[in-house]
Amino acid sequence: MSSDIDELRREIDIVDVISEYITLERVGSNYRANCPFHPDRTPSFYVSPSKQIFKCFGCGVGGDAIKFVSLYENISYLEAALELAKKYGKSLNIQKISKNEKILIALDRVADFYMESLHKNEEALEYLRKRGISGSTLKRFGIGFSPSSEALVNLLRKEGLLEDYLKTKNIIKINEETYRDLFLKRVIVPIRNPSGRVIGFGGRRIREDSSPKYINSPDSDVFKKGKNLFGLFEAKDYIKDEGFAVLVEGYFDALKLFSEGIKNVVAPLGTALTEDQAQLLSRYTKTVYLLYDGDTAGRNAMNRVIPILLKAGLEVHPVYLPEGHDPDSFIDAFGVKELKSIIKSSRELFESLLEKASENLEKYTKDFRYFLGFLRDDIKRIALAAEYEKRYKVPVETLLQPVKQEKVNSLPWNVKVVLKGFYELKPNISPEELELPEDIKELCEKAIRGEAHELPEEVFEVNVSDLEKVFWSVLDKLQQNYRKLRKKKGVLNKSFR
Ligand SMILES: [Zn+2]
Repeated sequence: MSSDIDELRREIDIVDVISEYITLERVGSNYRANCPFHPDRTPSFYVSPSKQIFKCFGCGVGGDAIKFVSLYENISYLEAALELAKKYGKSLNIQKISKNEKILIALDRVADFYMESLHKNEEALEYLRKRGISGSTLKRFGIGFSPSSEALVNLLRKEGLLEDYLKTKNIIKINEETYRDLFLKRVIVPIRNPSGRVIGFGGRRIREDSSPKYINSPDSDVFKKGKNLFGLFEAKDYIKDEGFAVLVEGYFDALKLFSEGIKNVVAPLGTALTEDQAQLLSRYTKTVYLLYDGDTAGRNAMNRVIPILLKAGLEVHPVYLPEGHDPDSFIDAFGVKELKSIIKSSRELFESLLEKASENLEKYTKDFRYFLGFLRDDIKRIALAAEYEKRYKVPVETLLQPVKQEKVNSLPWNVKVVLKGFYELKPNISPEELELPEDIKELCEKAIRGEAHELPEEVFEVNVSDLEKVFWSVLDKLQQNYRKLRKKKGVLNKSFR
């Protein structure tokens, strides 16, 4: 997918380019200066020659050499690219720039627009403060806010990027004149690929209403949920320094930890972790600490993720939070120092199973055998089995026999029916109005949006002859006040979109 622009990026040096405009001071392997884009008395503007990017930790702007020129001269990215090409005697054929490249340019422009808009919206800022997201984290990640579909579209039109941006499906065309931003009035979390380019967004509502709590960019040519990890670009240096990554469930868990100084943190993109994501992570570290919610749902999720991490050759340390706590609430209750110490003391999976087996040999032998089956490294597998045999006299041959993988049936039957009903019937009610646990409500919202890949497979395995009838009767039983609600809302809305 190499384009002329990639070539140009490779051939120009960011330090040379920026030095033409401002004076850079060398600090270690980087350079810094007072930021030319905001009133800056302490140098907060950094340039990394090894990554060929700049980043201001005061106002949040960042990008490559072309982006710098475009901001400094107040011209579009493509104009800046042309100017640089001319200056460095390279030929750049605008027609030859790949479609994906133009989509990425548009995404970057939109991310900047969101970021600028955040600081004009007190409610969104207040929301982020309440969630415990620090100012420096806001800037590092370029967190934003979507204030107006119209302003966004006008900007894209002005820069000739509207057609390209439409391909992200992040805005919806309503008619010739009107578009709607999918993320309107939401706090925006930009999602970057490992080289730092914005490829999509996550949006969190800031008011309690009936809209989904989170939405993500739909998959597109440049954005594949299953193939990227949230926070990897921001965390990768810290992962290298610490020698391990902390894997959490959601964007806001990651942002909170980052704010509190645990910066080697990544999260999947609003879906369960995939094998591709585990492979990606394994390029940066061999050790993962799994920090999920301390409730049954969180532990079940951990049990589903562990095999995927093991298969990618990663060493796993499950971190068990006290029942009822998630990383966020744990930090609020006990402080980050305590969380760090829980993380530090969390032992490697097989080591901890070896230890625990003395409590309940039958149960842990089964777990040990089960997880052992996912190790790709034969030598390690045999060595672990031998150690287990030595301690508990369970023969290696038994331990190395694969456990028949039981189907993970984590959801009760009636919940599966509710989810399948939301997915297939699209009833005219909001999950928010139902008295269901929060995690189930989130699944309902995903079901309504038709995100089949985000729902547990078991949901689709439920066999019900008359789904509509069973769905409503299950809801009736789940919701004592349901009948009233149904009256108020009227009958099924069968329009499938
Ligand atoms: Zn700045």
